[in-house]
This record gives sequence, C-alpha cells and structure tokens, in this order.
Amino acid sequence: MTIDKARASRAIREFLVALGVDPGESKETEETPDRVADTWARDLLDGYAMDPRTILDPVATFESDVVVVTGLAFHGVCAHHLLPFHGVAHVAYRPAGLVTGLSCLGRLVDCFAHRLTLQERIAKEVTEALALHLRAPGAACVLEARHTCMIARGTRQAAARVVASSFAGTFEGGPDRELFANAWNRATIHELPGDVP
Ligand code: ZN
Repeated sequence: MTIDKARASRAIREFLVALGVDPGESKETEETPDRVADTWARDLLDGYAMDPRTILDPVATFESDVVVVTGLAFHGVCAHHLLPFHGVAHVAYRPAGLVTGLSCLGRLVDCFAHRLTLQERIAKEVTEALALHLRAPGAACVLEARHTCMIARGTRQAAARVVASSFAGTFEGGPDRELFANAWNRATIHELPGDVP
C-alpha cells in the first residue's frame, strides 16, 4: 500500500474548507492538514504495512502451557465514521511447539487494529494469525473498547463499551476457555484507559 502524505494533507485541507473552516486562517490550524496526514499514516493506518507472520516470529519450544496476556491497550479507527476507539485486549493461545515473545501479542493486535476495520474482525484476525503462524491448536481474543462514534453522536452513550471476542479450537469450551475467562475477568477490564476511578 502506498501512502501519499502530500495528497492526504491537501484532502484534509479541502475537507475542512468544505465544512466551512479554512485551516490557513489561523496560526493554530495552518499546520493541521500536515499533522493529520502524518498521524493517519504513522499511527492510525500503519497496520496495513505490518505483517503478522513477521510480528509473531515463532520460536520452537517444548513447553505447551497456555499463554494468556491481559490488559493490552490498543486503539483503532471505526470504519463507519472514521472516529477513534480505544480499549484493552486480552489474548491467549495454546502453543504446540511454537511460541512468540509476549510483547509480540500487543503488536499483533495493533497490526489488525490500525486499519479501517471492525472490532469483531480484529478479534477474529488475531486468533486466526495465532492458529496459522504458531500452529496453535487453540487461540482466543477479547477486545473491550469505547467508541467515539457512540460518545459524540447518535444517542451519546458515553459509558457504553463494545466487547468483541473470538474463541478458536481448544478455547471454544472446556478448561482452556475457563482459564482464559478467569484471567480476563480478574484483569482490570472494568477500567478502560480514560476511566475515572
Ligand atoms: Zn463508528
């Protein structure tokens, strides 16, 4: 995928002008089109340039206990409104001879979240990548997020959060599912980034 930042910047300027705001008219906004283009290219849609196989970088192991990582902060942009959402991800897999670094799981979530997508699809893509690249017989991903499109528009549900999940293989039920459910229920799932304690 090619990114043309100059074109994106021109489009943002045009977008703002079409909405009645000329960014060139104020010191605060004259660099805004460039900043927006940079942010979208570098932080919001950088997932298209990431390869899940490279991120997971499998390492052979003899251990086969379930790996669970909870509370991975993530953010994305909703495909319907181009508004940000943010929350926490909980990821687990049952290795079968291949493992990956724990920090790689957060980057795997980012790889799929930093695209124009839906929360449900991110969860599914995470479990599919673990099954495919680590040959894991079981994988699970739960994502809890607060969406700006629910806070700022429509019925303005500031406290609402969306939970999406994907359970594959050994996590479809039984002891692996139970172990994972206990771990993410114990995690600080009721506190999303930005929550008031
Ligand atoms: Zn939305």
